[in-house]
Amino acid sequence: MNHQALSTPTPTDAASKSKQKYSFNKLQKRLRRNVGKAIDDFSMIEANDKVMVCLSGGKDSYTLLDILLFLKKIAPIHFDIVAVNLDQKQPGFPEHVLPEYLDSIGVEYKIVEEDTYSIVKDKIPEGKTTCSLCSRLRRGILYRTAKEMGATKIALGHHRDDMLETLFLNMFHGGKLKSMPPKLVSDNGEHIVIRPLAYCSEKDIEKYAQAAEFPIIPCNLCGSQENLQRQNIKHMLQDWGKRYPGRIESMFRAMQNVTPSHLVDGNLYDFKGITTSDGPVTDGDIGFDAPDLPSRVFEEESDQRVQIINLTE
Ligand code: SF4
Repeated sequence: MNHQALSTPTPTDAASKSKQKYSFNKLQKRLRRNVGKAIDDFSMIEANDKVMVCLSGGKDSYTLLDILLFLKKIAPIHFDIVAVNLDQKQPGFPEHVLPEYLDSIGVEYKIVEEDTYSIVKDKIPEGKTTCSLCSRLRRGILYRTAKEMGATKIALGHHRDDMLETLFLNMFHGGKLKSMPPKLVSDNGEHIVIRPLAYCSEKDIEKYAQAAEFPIIPCNLCGSQENLQRQNIKHMLQDWGKRYPGRIESMFRAMQNVTPSHLVDGNLYDFKGITTSDGPVTDGDIGFDAPDLPSRVFEEESDQRVQIINLTE
């Protein structure tokens, strides 16, 4: 058998490789553009910041670090990046994976070892959800580490879909219209937390992490059940995304486009103080208008296709 002939790339192989490279470049460009825009829109990073990137070993934080390192190279301002991983001593955690990766890309990093796993196992009865205590402990350790390292910003890998899921979680189970902010100050006022992936979709991040071959560490090492409510909401949103293209994008736009005078929160809008006026009023009498919905809108869901959505269906 002629093995040489079998392994010679055909024109079809070459074409498919170049197509793959082209779509990877487009994906990379889109993610970089979205991160750059979020940083700019919310003034997430300023000159001479030291940004501590929290790296868990999952697809989101690898993507975040990768893109921030690129943006650091081309940014008109100087800022530093340090990657931090908290080794929570979960059984089976592959300790060598992150140091090897971080050494290979030449970024400054610190691995913090704290056995929060045992504390959580000790304090929470078997079968109960461990995530809330675990994340409280983790947050405290990360804040302390940021202080020790002189970091001015703490960057987390939450993305657009995490933010939407949180919005629905809070609405369905907490009776609050509240999501995850792209930027916040910690409770003790000492740290600024940023979420530069705020405009990035999970689907894009997933594809990117796969193509970039990041050494992903599985996230089920602690043996905790995934937060069931969050999973339910994730499935609901994914289902909507499939059945009604453009809906996810529209909901995310709504989070950036709030009209307090047309909600019901007296703390956000002074309903009691409403008086009549001689002239036109901003945010005024649009309550009787027909809903501002075109019958058909064009929605660019990705670079590959343009969706036509019929909103009257
Ligand atoms: S899944 Fe495990 S590691 Fe993650 S927050 Fe919950 S208990 Fe902690």
